[in-house]
Amino acid sequence: MNTAKPGSDPASTTTASTPAPSPVPTPPLFTAIGRGAVGLCPAYGKTRLFTGYLRVAEVCTACGAPLGQVRADDGPPVFTILIAGAIVVTLLVVMESTMNLSMLTEAAILLPLMLVVCLGLLRPIKGGTLGLMLQIGMIKPPTQ
Ligand SMILES: [Zn+2]
Repeated sequence: MNTAKPGSDPASTTTASTPAPSPVPTPPLFTAIGRGAVGLCPAYGKTRLFTGYLRVAEVCTACGAPLGQVRADDGPPVFTILIAGAIVVTLLVVMESTMNLSMLTEAAILLPLMLVVCLGLLRPIKGGTLGLMLQIGMIKPPTQ
C-alpha cells in the first residue's frame, strides 16, 4: 500500500542538494562517442566538431559546449597507431605466408596503406575521444 500523499514525489525531497543541470546537453556515452566519430558536436549532434582536419571548434554554436576545452592530447594518435598497426601487420603476415613477394614490393604496398589508414582513422578516433571526454566531463578550463 502506498502511504505517500497524492501529488507528492518521493524523489523531490532528496533533490535539494543536487547541482543545477548543465546547460550543455549530455547524451549517453556511446551516442557522444558516435557523434564525435562522425565529426559532429558530441553534446548536441547538429553542428561540426572540427573546423579543419583536426582543429576542434572552440565552442559549439548550437549548444555552447566548450569543445575547445576538451584536450585529447596524444590519445587519438596512440589509438590510431595501435589500430592501424594491427591492420597493416596482419596484412603483412598474410602476405608473407600466402604470397611470394619481395620486401620492396611489400613495402611499396604496405607503407602507403599505413599512411592512408592512419590519416583515415585519426579524425574519427579524435572525434570519438573528444565525445568520450566531453561526456564524462574531462574538460580543462583555460588557465588565467
Ligand atoms: Zn553542440
